[in-house]
Amino acid sequence: MTNASPHQEQYRQARYAEKLILEYEGEPTHTTDRDTEYENFLRKEMPGAILRNEPPHIPSLPEYIVARHYTRLAEMNYGITSGFYPLGSCTMKYNPTVLEEVARWRWVADIHPLQPENAVEGALQVMKELGIMLAEISGMDAVSLQPAAGAHGEYTGMAIVRKYFEDMGQDRNEVIIPDTAHGTNPASAAMAGFDVIEIKSKKGYVDIDALKSVLSTRTAAFMLTNPNTLGLFESDVLKIEKIVHEAGALLYYDGANLNAIMGITNPRAMGFDIVHFNLHKTFATPHGGGGPGSGPIGTIERLAKYLPLPKVVRTEQGFKLEHSLSRITNGGCLEEKGGNDETIGSVHTFHGNFIVLLKSYAYIRLMGRDGLKKAAERAVLNANYLKKKVEKILDVPYGEIVKHEFVASCAKLKKYGIRAKDVAKRLLDYGFHPPTIYFPLIVDEALMIEPTETENKETLDAFSDALQRVIEESIKNTEFVKNAPQNTAVSRVDEVLAAREPILNYRRRKNEK
Ligand SMILES: *Cc1c(COP(=O)(O)O)cnc(C)c1O
Repeated sequence: MTNASPHQEQYRQARYAEKLILEYEGEPTHTTDRDTEYENFLRKEMPGAILRNEPPHIPSLPEYIVARHYTRLAEMNYGITSGFYPLGSCTMKYNPTVLEEVARWRWVADIHPLQPENAVEGALQVMKELGIMLAEISGMDAVSLQPAAGAHGEYTGMAIVRKYFEDMGQDRNEVIIPDTAHGTNPASAAMAGFDVIEIKSKKGYVDIDALKSVLSTRTAAFMLTNPNTLGLFESDVLKIEKIVHEAGALLYYDGANLNAIMGITNPRAMGFDIVHFNLHKTFATPHGGGGPGSGPIGTIERLAKYLPLPKVVRTEQGFKLEHSLSRITNGGCLEEKGGNDETIGSVHTFHGNFIVLLKSYAYIRLMGRDGLKKAAERAVLNANYLKKKVEKILDVPYGEIVKHEFVASCAKLKKYGIRAKDVAKRLLDYGFHPPTIYFPLIVDEALMIEPTETENKETLDAFSDALQRVIEESIKNTEFVKNAPQNTAVSRVDEVLAAREPILNYRRRKNEK
């Protein structure tokens, strides 16, 4: 490969001409065990447009072919086991492998939510105790483990806000959100039926005057992320709490990245009423393509009755599920059990993503109180160490001391025709996953960097060295950087085309050829 770069990079990603598994030649799929009765039923019931006329051509392949195929794909991928992954706000830390092992234990892998409660009491105990631990970490009084993602937790929280004010007979239809918030905040509030009012931040913090000017008897809630997505701790949070509560509204805490504060302070101490957690960011579950997530929510006592059901309760006979009176089925039989009907209802089948809950439970037990606090301290230390290094290379417009992340700006490279995206792509050539780019919107050409607690000094130094080189190359060797990456399995892709015309279907791919 010709390489015009002044530096010879070490990193080379595997590159195979790997075809799709469907394109391998094998025996045709066995069709003898097709259930024709079921097929006929489907043909009658399903809309014609989504029916296939023939079975899919899935080749029957020997195991080693399949294993090699997926191993090659894995070698062409970049994951947290390949290297540093400083994806700001979307914490991708290294998660202990022992937790994957726990998740594969037979007593976990083989259970089913429709089993009788007394046959899965251990699982119920795990959920009950995880709820208690999350309540302790956040300072909240009650926790529901049902929501499947951060955004889902936000939606659940907003549904609780709505029900609360309906019960109070108050017509409050507005939710206020600062412009530093994660995009899911306004989306969740809008989906729960609220009008969203965005307020501009001032020097990266909530502008108290702007907040006061939009607070009214129409305000249902103020949603805040603290530390915010610039990595800044809103030091006026108690003042904010006072004026929002005085206006009769509730305070919602986006706790996706609790790794900045856990064990040190908590949303309750800051006066919040509802919190969501991202177990798949802070509490040891991979996310994105890595698997299912979990976004539990916690509330103060007054709002606990609105939380989704069923929930686990501890009785003298052991751990049991508590349902609402009107919607209990146990093996198809309606049963009467205690409970309440003020709940917003369930937001997920059964109990959410149990495997994620179990991994988080094991992680918290593994870390202990001191361990979680150390993780937060280390996450903050790492972010500040890296920030000090990056400040010598790029502008970091907000914050002297940050919490778990910081946002640098590539604006000074614009005069060379280099954008944040080009820098991100070139970092891949050095074996680093790029930071989050173009978010938050208030930083021009943003690179949002979050090292997490799991990285060591050597990695952070290597990353900042690579960033330094990329900036030098951007000035001296602009065209080269614009065409990065060169060393990866897939070179620069047409992101606009991919977003506008995604080819997600094999038949479509074949037609395109
Ligand atoms: C990731 C994140 C969310 C959304 O979580 P999902 O699980 O992706 O829905 C919300 N807020 C913040 C601050 C986040 O970082």
